[in-house]
Amino acid sequence: MSTAHIREQRSPAELRDLAGTAGRELEEATALDVLRWAADTFGRRFCVTSSMEDAVVAHLASRAFPGVQVVFLDTGYHFPETIGTRDAVEAVMDVEVITLTPRQSVAQQDAQYGPKLHDRDPDLCCALRKVQPLEEGLREYDAWATGLRRDESPTRAGTPVVGWDEKRKKVKVSPIARWTQDDVDAYIAEHGVLTNPLLTDGYASVGCAPCTRRVLAGEDARAGRWAGRNKTECGLHG
Ligand code: SF4
Repeated sequence: MSTAHIREQRSPAELRDLAGTAGRELEEATALDVLRWAADTFGRRFCVTSSMEDAVVAHLASRAFPGVQVVFLDTGYHFPETIGTRDAVEAVMDVEVITLTPRQSVAQQDAQYGPKLHDRDPDLCCALRKVQPLEEGLREYDAWATGLRRDESPTRAGTPVVGWDEKRKKVKVSPIARWTQDDVDAYIAEHGVLTNPLLTDGYASVGCAPCTRRVLAGEDARAGRWAGRNKTECGLHG
């Protein structure tokens, strides 16, 4: 287990320097070593975020840092399978799942903005239901890990293994940035990692139900997200 102490909060300048140095030094490191570095460097001020598409990064992080906090954004629009995956992860893995929720329920949002905001203004819907709650939920952390991979889409091709999240002034760790889908599949098979059942039902990337469809042969993994719209990311990673 890593030395997961409560650590003093570092200044944004210190964190940015740390991110720059680690980004260079850890570019070729294994995912597990990247997470061990994050656990040793940030202790309890480090968390993993998971969409519960699969639990690969949460599993890796629990090996590097047993009891690690796994932050899940419950937008109110998830597939039941996604909520089930979250509950299963909490039940069987050595992690602490933290569920963040938007300020408004879906009903409250519908009352203020009208129903199906996701169809009319998905950027605003994502801002209210994803970006804002994550912003608030990450306040107590200096660093967060994501499951971003360079091979997922052109917008993610430049993802650093350790980078600087200028918007939130935090270190952003993407331990499997260099992995391919084959690497992910091999890790899941080797370790029996929980995955969202929708991944074996034609979905390649799982987000909110109204904005996710199955992918067609030859499409990239995120083609089923906001399909038919000029939108590829929710703003969490922008
Ligand atoms: S993915 Fe769709 S439903 Fe979910 S927050 Fe964004 S716009 Fe709203």
